[in-house]
Amino acid sequence: MVFGHDTELFLTTTAALVNTSSDGVDGLTTHEGLRAYLAAAGWSGTVLGTDDELASVRALRDHLRTFWMIEDRAEAARFVNELLADTDAHPFLTKHDAYDWHLHLTHDDAPLADRIGAEAAMGFLDLIREDQLDRLRTCAADDCEDVLVDLSKNRSKRYCDTGNCGNRTNVAAYRARKRATS
Ligand SMILES: [Zn+2]
Ligand SMILES: [Zn+2]
Repeated sequence: MVFGHDTELFLTTTAALVNTSSDGVDGLTTHEGLRAYLAAAGWSGTVLGTDDELASVRALRDHLRTFWMIEDRAEAARFVNELLADTDAHPFLTKHDAYDWHLHLTHDDAPLADRIGAEAAMGFLDLIREDQLDRLRTCAADDCEDVLVDLSKNRSKRYCDTGNCGNRTNVAAYRARKRATS
């Protein structure tokens, strides 16, 4: 594991949120779409199911995507500090269900977009502290704009998890080689 468990979870769920908008298709236009993301990402706590809530999560998602484009650490730090302030993050230790003491950033009944945004900020801030912003990448497939976070030890991850892009790209390269030799 490259970062702490919490950090890796925050980063992968944030990438998954950004990728709910993929290849021109927005998966968060409906409450069902939001519920599907929340279930897949393991979110608990209050979900109001209102249109305002849905709109705020979509706006947050589009804002979070811009973090993938930031290379400068000072700019990245500003982004995270604003996000922590906007989401009203108040870190506290808690222990519940099967989990030992761990950090919560907002209360369970805080607005959904604030809870998601605060966790994204906590994931991002470790990348800044450790000077590893380059672990945030865009998929290497030509036709894919999805984002990824490379948590591999040897920094070898190049394709997103959403579109089967690694396989597709290998098959395309294989076909191109075959065409070239026939
Ligand atoms: Zn918890
Ligand atoms: Zn991809």
